[in-house]
Amino acid sequence: MRLTILGSGTNVHPLRAASGYLVRTDHTILLDFGPRTLANLLKTGVNRNRITHILFSHYHADHFSDFITYFFDAMIFTKYQGGKRPPLTVIGPRGTKRLFRALFATLPGFTHAPFAVHFKEVADRAFAIGKTTVIPRTVTHTQNLHCLGYRIEYGGKALAYSGDSQYCDSLVRLCGDVDLAVLDCSFPASRPNPVHLHAGQCGQVAREAGVGRLVLSHLYPITDRYNVREQAGEAFGGRIVVAQDLMAIKL
Ligand SMILES: [Zn+2]
Ligand SMILES: [Zn+2]
Repeated sequence: MRLTILGSGTNVHPLRAASGYLVRTDHTILLDFGPRTLANLLKTGVNRNRITHILFSHYHADHFSDFITYFFDAMIFTKYQGGKRPPLTVIGPRGTKRLFRALFATLPGFTHAPFAVHFKEVADRAFAIGKTTVIPRTVTHTQNLHCLGYRIEYGGKALAYSGDSQYCDSLVRLCGDVDLAVLDCSFPASRPNPVHLHAGQCGQVAREAGVGRLVLSHLYPITDRYNVREQAGEAFGGRIVVAQDLMAIKL
């Protein structure tokens, strides 16, 4: 399994794209698709038309908005440029079908794509994408919003992605004994925020879950001014990496 970080920042960040992660197993999968991550996807050299599954954690714009650009391009590619691509399955939390139905009904041409598109709402039940196992888990982020973290297992390795999350038991369970956890490290420990983890809590989750390697991501601009690696390291003795766009990690 290979992970490429397409975006390690937030909605508006001068140096980092927002949330997006490319996971390569027996399938080419995207976790979230925030602004500027499509440009980074192009830089990876991966054929964007080979992506078969896009998994959304939630629909705050910093996790979602490049989907529109991506899909419009896929439509033009298949409709006018003779391109072929496999069916696309969009997976996400409660509200996924309603959101995409409204979007597709409103944006010109979106309902006329010449390839199959499927929408799937998931909650806390594992499913398979070929030989890849995906385990979504509801995490706590903002009030009344269904947000998911994802655990991906393939070839004897496990990866967890928190999406956006506060500290919660469900997040610790999602990350249980994974080889690598990518966590929402929006803020430094000294500048906490009620709806996101801070660096110290990322370390706490990693320790409690028995994570192999911790990747700190979803960094707000202010967070880059602090040593979040050191802050997470106060609770967690394992390897800690501060995410950078286009960083590739092999599991
Ligand atoms: Zn969010
Ligand atoms: Zn976010």
